[in-house]
Amino acid sequence: MKFNLLFSLKYTRLILFASTVLACLFSISIADIDYIQAATEKEYDLQEIKDGVYILSANGYNVMFLTTGEGIIVVDAPPSIGDKIFKAISEVTNEPIKYLIYSHAHRDHIGAAHLFQPFIQIIAEKNTGDILKAVNDPERPIPTTTFIDNTTLTVGDKTLQLTYPGQYHQRGDIFIYVPDQKIIMVVDQLTPGEVPWKHLAATPEVPALMRSYDQVLEYDFDVYVPGHGNTGTKKDVNIQKEYVSDLKNNAQLAINNVNFTEVTKNVDRQNNAAITEAYFDALTNACVEKTEEKWKGKLHGVGVWTDEHCEKMIQSVRVD
Ligand SMILES: [Zn+2]
Repeated sequence: MKFNLLFSLKYTRLILFASTVLACLFSISIADIDYIQAATEKEYDLQEIKDGVYILSANGYNVMFLTTGEGIIVVDAPPSIGDKIFKAISEVTNEPIKYLIYSHAHRDHIGAAHLFQPFIQIIAEKNTGDILKAVNDPERPIPTTTFIDNTTLTVGDKTLQLTYPGQYHQRGDIFIYVPDQKIIMVVDQLTPGEVPWKHLAATPEVPALMRSYDQVLEYDFDVYVPGHGNTGTKKDVNIQKEYVSDLKNNAQLAINNVNFTEVTKNVDRQNNAAITEAYFDALTNACVEKTEEKWKGKLHGVGVWTDEHCEKMIQSVRVD
């Protein structure tokens, strides 16, 4: 009896451990795993993409920083990179850090901001400032300077244009554009080569996400810096735009073609939730089938979240 109890306890722990490992593995994409392995060998990856503009990558997250001749500008401070930011900067320059820009308020992109010296300036859009005041998180200090909609920051030989295009991902999220170097950094909009992240890049507003691709494409740039994964180009933005507009068409087709009476005929008529679910499952299946038919093999991760993408788009087509 004792032996059996111990054995089953061990067994349960083993299953728990295995499922935790699996859960962690499946929450990141294949490209992220390659990326993480590459980054762990060197601790981080540091790349000068244009004169004085650097991308620091570790654990699947990116930070951009710029030398200006008058102090460093850093964009984002993910806790998964943490104090490696200071190590990487000291590898290429002894300029002091003067500015930190928040791309948006999410902790996974700015949760190491408390590690910076208190006298630096932190810049964010007003909505991001409001969110951070409300959450009152000591690891995400409130910005010292906020702006409404857009602003331009010139320090030494670098100019940055910061623009709030609408909440494609979170209220207050901004495009960070470096016009002279033709670089744009957009965080949590897309990862080049990958399908959109879970629930359509976790957007709170599908139409804002769809608009955001055209808004990015209006800029003159040749390097797209995402919050995760490798850098891309306009081509990656166009591919993402095409995937999401296909989703919209396929969601609309499903709504037009799926017969409500037919797909709910075997469901208990008293159970409204079950009737609704049967109908939406049928819509989702129709949208998934059509989307995967075209996109399988064209982007990493097609098939993993197509159901979530379709569900989110079907809701948007119905109500937005
Ligand atoms: Zn985010």
